[in-house]
Amino acid sequence: MTEPNYTVELTPPDIEPYRSGNTGIDYVTTFESRLAGPHVLVTALTHGNEICGAIALDRLFRSGLRPRQGKLTLGFDNVAAYRNFDPRVPIASRYVDEDFNRLWSPATLDDARQSAELARARALRPAVDAADFLLDIHSMQYATAPLMLAGTLDRSVALARRVGIPELIMCDAGHAAGPRMRDYGGFGDPASAKTALLIESGQHWERRAAEVATDVMLRFLITVGSLTRDDAQVLAGPDFDAHPRQRVIQVTEAVTITDDRFEFVQDFRGLEVLSPKGTLIAREDGREIRTPYDDCVLIMPSRRLAKGQTAVRLGRYVE
Ligand SMILES: [Zn+2]
Repeated sequence: MTEPNYTVELTPPDIEPYRSGNTGIDYVTTFESRLAGPHVLVTALTHGNEICGAIALDRLFRSGLRPRQGKLTLGFDNVAAYRNFDPRVPIASRYVDEDFNRLWSPATLDDARQSAELARARALRPAVDAADFLLDIHSMQYATAPLMLAGTLDRSVALARRVGIPELIMCDAGHAAGPRMRDYGGFGDPASAKTALLIESGQHWERRAAEVATDVMLRFLITVGSLTRDDAQVLAGPDFDAHPRQRVIQVTEAVTITDDRFEFVQDFRGLEVLSPKGTLIAREDGREIRTPYDDCVLIMPSRRLAKGQTAVRLGRYVE
C-alpha cells in the first residue's frame, strides 16, 4: 500500500503572542461586545499537526475584527503537541500522550488519570462549558473534499446548512475510543440549545485547507451573529461567496480496530462509494469487513491502524 507523501505547503504561525490571552487560560482569548448575544467559541489545534486552524485564528486575531454582539472566544487547544511540529515529520505532532479529542466526557475529565492532553482539556473545560456555539477546526490525512461534522442532532445539521459551506455535511456519533469536544455536554444533548460543528478543512498540509478553514470560520461567525458580512470581507477567500448544493452523509457505523493485524484491501482515501452490498473493505485476523449496503460511502480511512481506534466510518448519502 502506498503512503502518500504530501508536501507541507503551510507554515505554522507563531502563536506565542496569544499565550497570555485574557481569560486566565493560556492561549484562550475572549472578546466582549457591548451588546447581548451568544458566546461563540472557535478552536484550533485540537490535533497539534492540523495547522490550518491555527492559521485561520491567527488571521482573525491580526485582522482586529471584534464581535458585534455577545462574546467571541478564540482558543488554541493542544499547544504542547503543536510545539513539536516538524515539517520533516509532520504527522508526529498530532498529540503528546493521547488524542485530545477522545476525552470529552465528565467521567474522563473528572477522574484521577493524568496526561498532557487531560491536563489541557481540564484547563479548557470552563471555556467549552461557557460557549453557546462551537466551531472546532481540523484537517485530514488524505486530500479529499472538506467535510462538516455535524454530529447527530438536527440543530447542528441546520446550523451547517445555514453556514452553507462546505458541500458535504456528515452526521456521525464519533468514536468508540471516546467522545469529542464537539459532542461534550450540551453540544451533544438533544434538550440543550448549545450547538457545535467540526470542520475537516482538507489535507493537513495543503494551502487549500487554510483557505477552507478561514472561509468556514467567517461564514460560521456571520451565521451566529458575531460578524457582519461586511466585517468578514477583509479576510474572505475563494469560498466566502460559494453556495454549493449541500449534501448530507449519514454515518451508520464506525469500524473500530480490534486486532493489531488490521489491513485495508485497497488504498482507500475517503469518499469512495462502494457497491454492491458486501464489498470487501478490510481484513483483520481472519475477520472480513464488508460494506453493509449498496452505495456505501467510506469516510476518513485512517493510516493509524491501532487497536481501539476508528479505522473508517461507513455511511450513505441521505440527500
Ligand atoms: Zn483532527
